[in-house]
Amino acid sequence: MTDPTATDQRAADLAARLTAVRSEVAAAVAAAGRAPGEVELLVVTKFFPAADVRRLIDLGERAFGESREPEASRKIAELGDLVAGAPAGAGPGVAFDMIGGVQGKKAKTIARWARSVHSVDRTRIVEQLAAGARAAVDDGRRTGDLGVFVQVSLDGDPARGGVVAADLGRLADEVLAAGSLRLRGLMAIAPVGGDRERWLADLAAIRERFLAAHPTARELSAGMSGDLRLAIGYGSTCVRVGTAIMGARPILSH
Ligand SMILES: *Cc1c(COP(=O)(O)O)cnc(C)c1O
Repeated sequence: MTDPTATDQRAADLAARLTAVRSEVAAAVAAAGRAPGEVELLVVTKFFPAADVRRLIDLGERAFGESREPEASRKIAELGDLVAGAPAGAGPGVAFDMIGGVQGKKAKTIARWARSVHSVDRTRIVEQLAAGARAAVDDGRRTGDLGVFVQVSLDGDPARGGVVAADLGRLADEVLAAGSLRLRGLMAIAPVGGDRERWLADLAAIRERFLAAHPTARELSAGMSGDLRLAIGYGSTCVRVGTAIMGARPILSH
């Protein structure tokens, strides 16, 4: 079987879908009366090879999302100089964010490569990421603090990660107190089977209250392939888009 991600046709497919998604983001930003550039497109490259990231860099993309370690570390190592020129957290280079659930034993490695972690939902992970970021700065693997989004649970389902709204403020204060971390804002994943308008409206209300206590943590990571337009309407500053750009994710055998 031929690998559909190995050919130049692949570059053309990525270019076409990327153009469509960029247009959709721009149209949603305009429809919401927001300023162009207010919403970052994070291209989610999980399950896809480093060669695809290279194609996307050629197409002008600079911000990528990965959800699993060690897949992310391996891919970033393969990209070599493309990423190595800019240590995590530095300047205008290529950046990778961690968007998946963080296992404690992986926190130290993630703090070496991630610009930001979108999925922070408990005290222990705050401590481990802070220690990891400190160590990574000390040994020259990163410059600057590790960005943190506190993940909000909209349905209270612990399997999907996130903290319930009542505990957000406390966790955010822990991020602020930890050092080596920069609190960027909130993140949410759509609940399964929920009404999309409803959860986005709930999220916007939670964010409004959150901002009263944490006025500088203005970012909102919300919206994926299926709901990015709606999420931008409800204030998202970062849409995490996989399928609409990359195509369907390959099924892994393990
Ligand atoms: C995989 C993933 C995405 C991308 O989802 P698509 O529906 O493929 O766009 C976004 N956010 C998180 C947290 C993910 O794990």
